[in-house]
Amino acid sequence: MSDPIVGIDLGTTHSLVAICTEAGPRVLADAEGRALLPSVVRMVAGAAPVVGHAARDHAVEFPLETIASSKRFMGRSHAESLAIAEGFGGQLVEGPRGIRTVTPQEVAALVLAQLKATAEAALGHPVRRAVITVPAYFDDAQRQATRDAARLAGLLAERIVNEPTAAALAYGLNRARKPETVAVYDFGGGTFDVSILRIEPDEVHAASDLFQVLATNGDTRLGGDDIDRMVMEWLLAQAAAAFGPLTPSPGVLQALRTFAERAKIALSDRDAAPIEIDLGSGRTLRCTLTRAALEAMAAPLIERTLAKFRAALADASNPTLDRVVMVGGSTRMPAVRAAVAALTGLAPYTALDPDQVVALGAAVQAHILMGGRRDLLLDVIPLSLGMETRGGAVAKLIMKNASIPTRATETFTTAVDNQTGIVIHVLQGEREMVADCRSIGRFELKGLPPMPAGIPQLQVEFAVDANGVLTVSAAERRSGKRASLQVVPTHGLTTAEVDRLEQEAFAHAREDMHLHRVVDLAVNARLDLKWIGEALERTRAALEAGYLEQLDASMMRLKGFCEAAERNPAATDADAFHKAKEALDQLSMRLHETSIASSLKSMSTPGGAGDAPTTG
Ligand code: ADP
Ligand code: MG
Repeated sequence: MSDPIVGIDLGTTHSLVAICTEAGPRVLADAEGRALLPSVVRMVAGAAPVVGHAARDHAVEFPLETIASSKRFMGRSHAESLAIAEGFGGQLVEGPRGIRTVTPQEVAALVLAQLKATAEAALGHPVRRAVITVPAYFDDAQRQATRDAARLAGLLAERIVNEPTAAALAYGLNRARKPETVAVYDFGGGTFDVSILRIEPDEVHAASDLFQVLATNGDTRLGGDDIDRMVMEWLLAQAAAAFGPLTPSPGVLQALRTFAERAKIALSDRDAAPIEIDLGSGRTLRCTLTRAALEAMAAPLIERTLAKFRAALADASNPTLDRVVMVGGSTRMPAVRAAVAALTGLAPYTALDPDQVVALGAAVQAHILMGGRRDLLLDVIPLSLGMETRGGAVAKLIMKNASIPTRATETFTTAVDNQTGIVIHVLQGEREMVADCRSIGRFELKGLPPMPAGIPQLQVEFAVDANGVLTVSAAERRSGKRASLQVVPTHGLTTAEVDRLEQEAFAHAREDMHLHRVVDLAVNARLDLKWIGEALERTRAALEAGYLEQLDASMMRLKGFCEAAERNPAATDADAFHKAKEALDQLSMRLHETSIASSLKSMSTPGGAGDAPTTG
């Protein structure tokens, strides 16, 4: 690719650049490995402008010289800008004056130039062309201002694409086989947007022409920042309760804001976030914010997004939605996902990183403009999908070449006593062992009540929808606990890669079968040994010496096989192992008959959390 077109999400708070190849779209990171560039610029007379992280991190020290959120002013007149200028860092100046003035285009150009440099460093050659995204409600002047900014940065804007359209493109929704209506719910840092799109399957159009915007709605002053502010006020109230009323310095306020956001983000994965803040003068604020408290604070804000959502649906004559796509960092909040699911009756699309999805879609559009195609078959599963079981084997739930949509369920249990968490590790590939498959995601089912090994009933479902999006859900029957994960398995996959994996599987078929068999035998034999050992404890006194001797010998022999299999499964004789296991099974029948009466005792070996499940 000598003259690539990159995809750029020029965001209000963050901007990103992405590229798409046959393997699909991916974002490009800077030299420090960061994909998100803060859309923040510092302009000091007589010095070179500072762009991105450095400008944002030192915003408190340069309140007048630091310009954030300038996207709000793109293509607006001075009068309009003043109306939306509240909270803006830099000074708004009309026409030339004594101090240096900057236009929003110049600020955007600095951000774009930085992304261009990041892309050039990552790709190793010059980048001159880009697809750039803008909000669906941007008018012609705002779109033109975006083009001008690109030109100033030395980039030709090959196309300006609506952000919601890009998000839908990232999920491949342009490949729909029937007309679809899609909602894109974008809850970011400073703004909320919702769009209703109509997608017409039509081969003759270039991808983004297939997307018609039926309605948009939103609020340019509603975002994750507002939630941070509420948490900050809560922190101030906690501090006042502990130390009396205080007038925090700008530095302390900035710190409080940072802690507030950090706690909010932590609560997307946890139920409680401990906070410790040094307020100066020997005062340290220690408190804990719970998810429930955060959700109570955020509820009115989330309700406001839903009202806008309903209004957009009404403007589009209340269509039946086929999908809802989640965009923006704030959609990581479980309460936001749940609210959108409840409103739409659909499982929202969250498989792609909500920070990246717009840039990824811009890259997909760029790829289409370059005449590129993704060559993966889309109506079948290209590689089998499964999950890790104990011992590092893979249980396949959906087989290669299954036609989509498809779903499969299987029941698993635990192999360790008192496991309170079970890790579901999702894999793709034809090989039998985890190490030889492609890892595509993992999640944990937490908070299980302690139960003996083999008792939990873990029902796992794999469902691939018509767009190739995989949802893995796990539910434990007895406790009712559930968790799920969404991924796009074909991301980063080319047909060449699929062919290679297939050939490898073919070449290793025999040894793979052997390994899987030995590993499963070892897991099941260990369970047998445990149960038999426990039964033996209870009934030893009632058994005759000859039988006990036989039993001990048989157990020792099987334990030997387990140890050998755990050390070197490839070198273990699977048939002999199997025979040893059968022999003990036979021999132990009498023991079970004897012990049946006292079978509910002793289940107290300490067990670990987060162990992989077993096929039992
Ligand atoms: P924008 O489109 O406005 O540039 P982003 O899409 O980058 O914004 O979203 C940024 C917002 O997402 C911030 O308010 C940030 O705190 C929030 N955010 C990021 N990750 C999480 C998370 N895990 N849980 C809750 N909020 C998050
Ligand atoms: Mg955004």
